[in-house]
Amino acid sequence: MSADVIDGKAYATDLKADVAKQVTILKEKYNLVPGLAVVLVGDDPASQIYVRNKNKSTHKAGMNSYEYRMDSDVTEAELLTVVKKLNLDPAVHGILVQLPLPKHINEAAIIDAIAPEKDVDGFHVINSGLLATGGRGMVPCTPLGCIMMLKDRLGSLSGLDAVVVGRSNIVGKPMAQLLLNESCTVTIAHSRTRNLAEVVKRSDIVVAAVGVPELVKGDWIKDGATVIDVGINRIEMADGKTRLVGDVEYAAAAKHAAAITPVPGGVGPMTIAVLLKNTITAACRIAGVDEPKI
Ligand code: NAD
Repeated sequence: MSADVIDGKAYATDLKADVAKQVTILKEKYNLVPGLAVVLVGDDPASQIYVRNKNKSTHKAGMNSYEYRMDSDVTEAELLTVVKKLNLDPAVHGILVQLPLPKHINEAAIIDAIAPEKDVDGFHVINSGLLATGGRGMVPCTPLGCIMMLKDRLGSLSGLDAVVVGRSNIVGKPMAQLLLNESCTVTIAHSRTRNLAEVVKRSDIVVAAVGVPELVKGDWIKDGATVIDVGINRIEMADGKTRLVGDVEYAAAAKHAAAITPVPGGVGPMTIAVLLKNTITAACRIAGVDEPKI
């Protein structure tokens, strides 16, 4: 068996095109221009690239993009002041504080200072609670992108056995909750899980979000399973060059899976597209208008 490649880039291109159409409708019908504010603290190179890409995509979709750069020695109080200002700014519908933050800043305090209706990352405790209780909140972008691709690929997920490897607040836990909301039987595996191979082997859906290169071995994958690889790991090759790999042993897994996301080109591109989609959702809810259907 050779798996179909789930082309996250293509999904993201389609979703971004839909978002751009929604922006046009919102402008014409309600004079509403969705705005996304991104706050970047410090000079972490990976974060700078993410923020640059987010800005570019936001502009391209026809939305307003606001960028706030702060030095790494900014105080928690100063950062809170910026967040509170953005909460009150009517031109800003989505606020994203790029993580990780410097050690002296309490990340949870900053995230929980963001107005929940503008929390387009879906990390606020109110939004986690709404996701867990089936309410209408903002859903974290990476897991939402994964569930969109899974539903598009498989249709109904009801009754399927799913494993999420990794239990972080930003990927693993919300991913598991989304799968549960789709009526999967969900196992959350983590660093203390005994016999991960066995857990993966019985799963129809495998979502790996660990950050350990190729932790999930190809021969653990059940024949016909769908594999979503969230991991992004940069590894050094023998020739000194670096290469990106996921958390799943891709080539070996593709021999068993029915479908698999590549790294790069799988989950990554969808995350930014979903961020734009979440900004549309936030703007419509704040303005009290229906989200345009495309
Ligand atoms: P994290 O470090 O916060 O969490 C990792 C989780 O993996 C932890 O819950 C831990 O228990 C689990 N874990 C660690 N070692 C394990 C092991 N040996 N066996 C089983 N579980 C183990 O990481 P995160 O923020 O959730 O990110 C996970 C990966 O996803 C990283 O590679 C990150 O770069 C990537 N990521 C990608 C996107 C994207 O858009 N594609 C977005 C977010 C994160």
